[in-house]
Amino acid sequence: MSLWVRLFLTFIACLLLTLIFLGMFLGFTFNQYYKEELIERLTLEARVLEPRVKQFYTSSSPDFNGYKNFVRELASMQVGLGITVLNTDGVVEFSSWESRGAIWSHLPEILAVQKREIGYDFRPILGEMSVSVSMPMSSESIVIGMLSLKYPAASVYSRVWQVARFIIATFFIALLIGAFSIYNSVKIQTEPLNSLIEVAGEISGGNLDTTFEAKTQDEVGQLARALQVMVTRLKTALNEASREKGRFEAMFQNMVDGLMLTDSSSKVLLVNLSMLTIFGVSSDEMIGNNVTETKLPSTLVDIAIHGEVGLETEIHIGRPSQKVLRVRIAPIEQEGRLTICEDVTRMRGLEASEREFIQYISHELKTPLASLGASVETVQTTAKSDKKAQIKFLAGMSEDVERLTNLVNSLLTYQRVRDIGEQMERFGAVQMLFDVHDRFIPYATKKKVMIELDLTEDEIVIIANKDRIIQVLYNLIDNALRFTPENGRVTIGMTVEPKRIKIYIQDTGIGIPKDYLNRLGERFIKIPRKDERFATNVGLGIAICKEILSTILSKQGYSFERAILPMKLVAVRSGLGKYGKNNLCYVDGMGSYTRLEAFYTDYEFPIDTWCEKGLMKSCNSCSLCQHACPTQCIPQDRLLIHADHCLTYFNENEGDFPPSIPVQSHNALIGCMLCQIICPQNKKYFEINQDTITFTEEEIACILQKTPRENIPQALAKKLVDLDIYEDYPELQRNLTVLMNKEHSEMI
Ligand code: SF4
Ligand code: SF4
Repeated sequence: MSLWVRLFLTFIACLLLTLIFLGMFLGFTFNQYYKEELIERLTLEARVLEPRVKQFYTSSSPDFNGYKNFVRELASMQVGLGITVLNTDGVVEFSSWESRGAIWSHLPEILAVQKREIGYDFRPILGEMSVSVSMPMSSESIVIGMLSLKYPAASVYSRVWQVARFIIATFFIALLIGAFSIYNSVKIQTEPLNSLIEVAGEISGGNLDTTFEAKTQDEVGQLARALQVMVTRLKTALNEASREKGRFEAMFQNMVDGLMLTDSSSKVLLVNLSMLTIFGVSSDEMIGNNVTETKLPSTLVDIAIHGEVGLETEIHIGRPSQKVLRVRIAPIEQEGRLTICEDVTRMRGLEASEREFIQYISHELKTPLASLGASVETVQTTAKSDKKAQIKFLAGMSEDVERLTNLVNSLLTYQRVRDIGEQMERFGAVQMLFDVHDRFIPYATKKKVMIELDLTEDEIVIIANKDRIIQVLYNLIDNALRFTPENGRVTIGMTVEPKRIKIYIQDTGIGIPKDYLNRLGERFIKIPRKDERFATNVGLGIAICKEILSTILSKQGYSFERAILPMKLVAVRSGLGKYGKNNLCYVDGMGSYTRLEAFYTDYEFPIDTWCEKGLMKSCNSCSLCQHACPTQCIPQDRLLIHADHCLTYFNENEGDFPPSIPVQSHNALIGCMLCQIICPQNKKYFEINQDTITFTEEEIACILQKTPRENIPQALAKKLVDLDIYEDYPELQRNLTVLMNKEHSEMI
């Protein structure tokens, strides 16, 4: 029941009780009044009658019948009036209605008269409610008898009833008016309260923007003002809490380390993005689940539940990518445990690289220094007087000094690049490439390598950090010249696209082995080469490029990470290349001889080159690869090849060859290049990418006998690495056997 209804009923009940009480009081008062008035009138009449009755009573010859007639005559003067004369003992002497000799001495009015007072009493007499008033009759101060008058009291009650009816009618009207007034008053008084209740409901529902006014100065107004203050404070507190929560969440989610909060029953309460990324899980799979029910590695689950607080444990995971994690547990008060996973893969890789670097540097320093020392000693001793020998040793010493200088210069360059600030400037890209090209002409001439330019005719003005870009180009061109054999070619080229330009360095060099492509960008990587002439310097060139590119992005607040994606599809959809009918990705100026890499970055590119995948134009009038394919897996009617027939898939993986791969189709130790070799779009790049390596009979025997890889001769291992098939060693025996069988059957 609502407050105003309760208040209304309470007021009505009070009013009703008041009216009833007042009615009863008035009824009683009027009843008394009319009774007293009647008693007074009868007393007056008794006083008037008393002398005559006394005279008659005290006469010398009293006669009962005379008495009777006398009082009847007097009583007949007024309808309903009864007159009785009693002796002093309260016995009726004569009466207009009572029998003579009746004893009244016990009646209240008679008892009062005996005390010389006027007595009265209301009681039913002769079946009718009447009033009896009695008074003493005295003669010369001596009571000689009593006079009693009776009169019907009906008139009293009828008058009281009249008054009562009036009171009831008045009270009924008063009740109606009162009820109406109370209704309005209660409604008005409770209206602000109802508004407050509505507002409180809104607030409890979370809407703290609800506004209300405190119009009155009474308690309700004070309550409203107090509520308003409370809401304002609550809003401020909630805003502060929300900001605090936002700050915490931003901090939690953006922590580089993976974080997972679990409660005391090991239920996952919170995980951050790094944690999800490290383990390749979604938040739906984690939040709310017990940590044992998640896809996290069992070692991590064990640490999350039982790991000792503060203790650091290093774990290795293989999925979704190989990582080394340092895991520790931090207690959270009343909440549970915070599992912190720090990705130390890069650090461990760098430590390994740096160990390799120190070994390498020691070796690189030791050899020329030893050579220098020996040469100096020879010049000082045995060749002291041999000019020819001195010239020869001095030339060797000069080469050693050059090697040492190159080594030191590379280290200095790497350090300088790391220290260069981000200074953007406006400059002509074509002129810059001319200058860079000119800078390398003496070196290219010395190496007998042609260095050429493929630039636009018009100058293109760009805004960038010129020093950094030149540094990138120096390293790329230096690498290109270093790994390009005599009579080779290095091209510095540029293509113009809407809102950006692409600069490329293309060479006819020896390429990079597959195993080392993933490690490009790491410092101090030295790639083993079959030809010592192409030995890498200190392995800093690509690292410098990656450092510069990543620094440019990170200085602007962007991140930059390698991505594992379906590379050909990404290259085609990103507009970098086009599909050939053989499903390879062809890039302008490179054919299908590419090594694709993808990077994630949150940098917002000015143009969106994302497009539908499409076929090279030249494929429209060509079907050479379809005819060349030995397993007929390049169809005429669709873009996708029948990969389940492709020889490459089968001879790069373990297992028997299916019937769909006939013996005649085998053509390579690993993979199948027929559709690439035949393609006109690859023609000019084919020779550039050729490696010719010959295996000895012992090495072939090693392969055919399936000698464990760790036991094969160093020379064979090096050849496999150079051919980029070291990882495919387990399949070589099967493939070589099939090739030899094919050769044998063809010879027969
Ligand atoms: S061989 Fe012809 S059809 Fe096949 S990918 Fe090359 S251009 Fe296209
Ligand atoms: S790799 Fe060989 S088998 Fe596979 S599509 Fe090309 S030619 Fe055919």
